[in-house]
Amino acid sequence: MSIPIHTCPPAELPACEPLDILVVAPHPDDAELGMGGTIAKMISEGMRVGVLDLTTGEPTPHGSESIRRQETCVATDALALTWRGNAGLPNRMLVHTLEARALVASYFRMLRPRWIFAPYWTDAHPDHVAATEIVEAARFWAKLSKTDMPGERFHPERIYYYFCIHLRLAIDPDWIVDISDHWPAKLASIQAYHSQFIVGRPTDPPTMIDQLHHEAANWGRIINRRYGEPFATKEPLAMKSIRDLI
Ligand SMILES: [Zn+2]
Repeated sequence: MSIPIHTCPPAELPACEPLDILVVAPHPDDAELGMGGTIAKMISEGMRVGVLDLTTGEPTPHGSESIRRQETCVATDALALTWRGNAGLPNRMLVHTLEARALVASYFRMLRPRWIFAPYWTDAHPDHVAATEIVEAARFWAKLSKTDMPGERFHPERIYYYFCIHLRLAIDPDWIVDISDHWPAKLASIQAYHSQFIVGRPTDPPTMIDQLHHEAANWGRIINRRYGEPFATKEPLAMKSIRDLI
């Protein structure tokens, strides 16, 4: 069953159980591109995973606000997300202001995610760089007391970074998740954004979808699995058991 996409101010969000994970994305489709397979995997393991899109992502050459909203619903269903919201910040003009920081910190206080995922910190797209700065600062601000931000003070335990970048970087990830069983869900969530990845795109191979497939297969090859997704961290990783390594 489809879940709603929340667009109200954080203070007006319906009460919900704390999330395990909140993925913050500059635009609808970034979370799917960067870590759709890992999201599907975490949900299949019973985790509560939400995505907060900071902007509508519009205007774009082949989209509109209503088309993007509809596509976001289809992608949300494809991943079976627990929660999704849109913060309504301005696309193409995303800036790390105190207002944006307070807004995102308010989402953290209301949703109480144990871990957050932000875009990788180096990117050609200014919205992506701003999103990373906003999320890092909002994580700190979420724990402030004596503030007019809604909700109780809260500090997400960890912040990690997914790759959805507009530079041809030879990236050096800190770890790779095996998404072999969840590539079909990731693919469906990306194809949901028909106006972005199908309409007007070159149809000769390799198409954009072909390239995403090759990338996932390459990360999978590196870990001796079929498909993978790379991640980065600034703080050392901690794990409960060495058995989780493959
Ligand atoms: Zn983006």
